[in-house]
Amino acid sequence: MVLLDGKTLAKEKRENLKKKVEELKKKEGIIPGLAIIRVGNDPASEIYVRNKLKACQEVGIYAVEKHFNEEVNEQEIIDMIEFFNQDKTIDGILVQSPLPKNLDEKKIVSYILGSKDVDGFGIDNLGHLLANQEQVLAATPLGILNLLKEYKIPIASKKVLIIGRSQIVGRPLAIMFLNRDATVTIAHSKTKNLKELTLQADILISAVGHPRFITEDMVKEGTVCIDVGINRENGHVIGDMDFEKIKEKASYITPVPGGVGPMTIVTLLENVYELALKRKKEK
Ligand code: NAP
Repeated sequence: MVLLDGKTLAKEKRENLKKKVEELKKKEGIIPGLAIIRVGNDPASEIYVRNKLKACQEVGIYAVEKHFNEEVNEQEIIDMIEFFNQDKTIDGILVQSPLPKNLDEKKIVSYILGSKDVDGFGIDNLGHLLANQEQVLAATPLGILNLLKEYKIPIASKKVLIIGRSQIVGRPLAIMFLNRDATVTIAHSKTKNLKELTLQADILISAVGHPRFITEDMVKEGTVCIDVGINRENGHVIGDMDFEKIKEKASYITPVPGGVGPMTIVTLLENVYELALKRKKEK
C-alpha cells in the first residue's frame, strides 16, 4: 500500500506557488487577491476561513474576509459581492458554505462573476465543466485529481465509484473523471446494494461524512481509496473509511487528516493565482 500523502504534496505546492506569486508581483506588479464572505458563527466555517486566510498570507496572496452576522439580509451580501466583482485587486471571490438556512446560497453565489468564481460552484463554471470545456474547477475535486496525477495513478478506462453527490464534491468530481475517460458511477443515500458497487471500483471515493462508513469487506484488493470525509470523534478527526483495515487491501489510500484536506486548500490558492494570471493578460 502506498499512502497518498496530500500533506507533503500540498507543502511542496505551496512553496512552489509562493515563488510564482513573488515573480508575478516583481514582473507584473500583480498581487493575486481573494475575497471571502462569511455569514454567522458556524465554528467549522470560522476555522476553515481562518486556515484559508493564513494559507493565503503564507504564499503572498492578498486575502480579505467580510464577515456578516446572521441577521444580514440577502441584498447586503449581494451588494458586497458586486463590490468585489468590480474590485480590480480581487481575482477570486468565495462565499463560505454553509450559509444560515434563511439565506438562498445558490442565488447569492450566482452573483459572483464567472471570471471570479474561484470555487467553481457557479452555473457558468459548472456548465463549462459539463461541456468538457473546463475553466475554474472546484478545489476539493481538483485537489483529488492532482493527488492522483502526482502518484501517476491512471484514470482513463478505470471504474470510479463516487459516494456522495454534493455540489462541492461528488457532482463536479464525477464529471471531471468522466472528462478524463473514466467509467463513473455516483452513489448517494438512495442507492441500493452499495457494497456490490464498491467491490467493483478501481478507484473508490467516499464523500459522505459518516465515520467508518466504508468497511474493509466493501473494498476489493488493489483499490485506490480516496477518503474525503471529515468527521470528529472523541476529539480526533477521522475520515469515512476504516483506514487501519482498508490500508491492508488498498493499492493507494489517503489518510485523514493529511490527504484530501491539505490538497483542497492549496488548490484554492492555485485557483486564485490562475485567475490573477488572466488579470495580467487583460492589462
Ligand atoms: P453533503 O453535502 O452532506 O453530502 C453527503 C453525500 O453523502 C450526499 O450526497 C448524501 O446523499 C450521501 N450519503 C449520505 N448518507 C449516505 C448513505 N448511507 N449511503 C450513500 N450515500 C450517502 O456533504 P459534502 O459537503 O459533500 O461533504 C462530505 C464529507 O466530505 C463531509 O465529511 C465533509 O466534511 C467532507 N469534506 C471534506 C473536504 C476536504 O477538503 N477534505 C471538502 C469538502 C467536504 P443524498 O444526496 O442522497 O443526501
